[in-house]
Amino acid sequence: MSEPIAIDELTTYLACPRQYEYRYRLEIARDPAIQARERALAAVRDAITAGLTHSGTVEDRIDEALSRLAEEAIDDKAVNVDCREAIRSYLDQYADSHGTGVYASDEIATLGLGGHEIDCPIDAIVSIDDQPVVLQYQFDVDDVAFDGARNTISKHTGGNMYIPGPAGSVLRAVATMEALATGDRFATDGAPAGKSPVGFAYVGLTQTVRPSVPEAGDASEIEIIPEIRRLDAAYEAERDAALSVLDNLITWLSAQAYDPGDRFADIRKTVCGDCSYTGMCSPYINAEVRFE
Ligand code: SF4
Repeated sequence: MSEPIAIDELTTYLACPRQYEYRYRLEIARDPAIQARERALAAVRDAITAGLTHSGTVEDRIDEALSRLAEEAIDDKAVNVDCREAIRSYLDQYADSHGTGVYASDEIATLGLGGHEIDCPIDAIVSIDDQPVVLQYQFDVDDVAFDGARNTISKHTGGNMYIPGPAGSVLRAVATMEALATGDRFATDGAPAGKSPVGFAYVGLTQTVRPSVPEAGDASEIEIIPEIRRLDAAYEAERDAALSVLDNLITWLSAQAYDPGDRFADIRKTVCGDCSYTGMCSPYINAEVRFE
């Protein structure tokens, strides 16, 4: 079997095959600001899971998480996110419900598909209402399918919409749930067909940021409110479609098919704006020159 493929590689390819080539094949560095934000998110994830797995009161867990974050020396101004407040807000609201039963943190679930392996990194698996649920921490969930979404993949592949962010979020959720559902650890005899014994949720840590109403002794000037999106319904409705898309992506990627092809116009409208490679990407540069 060949080397495992990271799910991030597949979702990048889904968004733009050329971007995949630049980033993963040619290993061209991305915008430093994007990399700084990713480092900050990794530190925040570490801190949160340290807090969740720490025993004690909510305040104890917050203290543990914040002291872990302090070791990372993240420059909040550089990444434009109040990381301490994001951690405090999430743990204040969810430390009890997400931290009571923690099955795992910072591990990789591997899905076998068509003779290949897909690695799906997991931030944490916690017990929510007696069900194991994978939690994936992000700063926001702007690019994630909505709670209860059931046809994101077909919308993207149908040709009328180009929504690689939400479609990629479903691919990651389905691949992770499938990997865990087909492993030994969470398999249950009684699970109905098409239902995963493991749930999946994206946590947008800073989804809402607004001025706080000051209270006595409260020095905080902003209120950060996390948002959680569960994609269990997407697994039930789109498992087969998602696995088929993943299989196709691996085939194209293995064939080194990096030309954006007939979806370039869609890519240009939706993906190029946030891409690190606009200054060197010939399809993009040619299109810009043509449309000026
Ligand atoms: S500039 Fe656009 S077409 Fe080029 S790699 Fe980036 S996203 Fe893809």
